[in-house]
Amino acid sequence: MNRSNLRPSGSQDIPQPERADGAGGPDLGPRDVIRDLENPDLLVPPPTDAGTMPNLVFSFSDAHMQLNRGGWSREVTVRELPVATTLAGVNMSLKPGGVRELHWHQQAEWAYMLLGRARITAVDQDGRNFIADVGPGDLWYFPPGIPHSIQGLAEGCEFLLVFDDGAFSDINTFSISDWFAHTPPEVLSANFGVPESAFADIPKGQKYIYQDRVPAPLAEQAVPSPQGTVPRTFAHRLLAQEPQRFPGGTVRIADSANFPVATRIAAALVEIVPGGMRELHWHPNNDEWQYYLTGKARMTAFATQGTARTFDCRAGTVGYVPFAFGHYIQNTGDESVWFLEMFKSDRFADVSLNQWMALTPAELVRSNVNASEELMSALRKQKWPVVKYPGTPAP
Ligand code: MN
Ligand code: MN
Repeated sequence: MNRSNLRPSGSQDIPQPERADGAGGPDLGPRDVIRDLENPDLLVPPPTDAGTMPNLVFSFSDAHMQLNRGGWSREVTVRELPVATTLAGVNMSLKPGGVRELHWHQQAEWAYMLLGRARITAVDQDGRNFIADVGPGDLWYFPPGIPHSIQGLAEGCEFLLVFDDGAFSDINTFSISDWFAHTPPEVLSANFGVPESAFADIPKGQKYIYQDRVPAPLAEQAVPSPQGTVPRTFAHRLLAQEPQRFPGGTVRIADSANFPVATRIAAALVEIVPGGMRELHWHPNNDEWQYYLTGKARMTAFATQGTARTFDCRAGTVGYVPFAFGHYIQNTGDESVWFLEMFKSDRFADVSLNQWMALTPAELVRSNVNASEELMSALRKQKWPVVKYPGTPAP
């Protein structure tokens, strides 16, 4: 190994696992500098990090790509991120006209449109249907067992799917083509009341994603149902919601309170401005599954007994926080961090450390953490999910 062309420690370009106080030392051996640059808080953890913690992040860029004519998909499940038992995620792209075929599954499906537009269809147990076009910032929710499809419109599309089971896999779903392929022709003939010859060209197996033509406008594809449409819409315009605004950014929440059909998965779309921070908090209902859309961030989780660890996150990262673990997320870049917080729950719920302290007898709080009067007088009875200390510069 030629070590002479490795830069000395302290170089601006190649980070080294050492702190100013002399802890650590240069890494002159085999290493992946690009990954070290992406994970500065693993390479040089904040001195307050300590103890053992399961891995809490996994990037879609480290996930297997399923390439099909018509589009691609990749998934981050409990197989990629073992701590993530409650929810699994799929990142999918469909070309113009590309189809995620007619299918259903045991899990609830929640989705957020990242780019482009898609047509989604579903039919419920009472023969009420749902056909709609969705665009960036829109979401949809299909209850467990409800059959549905997704098709890219003229500009194609990319979206995030989230399922309420960490062991889910999108390529192990109930597909119409798969069932056709594994049903005897005489049974299909009897079921539909047409001769076996009518099934001569059925698929030999699951199509999953395939290329089709861009569909006709929505009005031309409408299918009137004598039973009507689904009583609770399966789509919701999350980004179009008026956000809650705070000094450190914005929050939009979609759960069963404002999107009634979403009884199994709740979500918050959070923006953290440069220099801002998702405040110290935890969730009293379930684990948190995160997806980062833009920017650079670091998340620190606290897990009792002196255990805390910091993870670096960027666009495409899935983060995870076990139930009740304290945590916060800092924007470490120079653009806004946008990310989704997802919960296997009918509601979004969080507990603010600041608000908790503000609403507890002051004498108790003061003595418990030796709080200064400056701190005591700054506590807020109103929750600010995203904060920005006035003097905090953007990096
Ligand atoms: Mn599905
Ligand atoms: Mn959280």
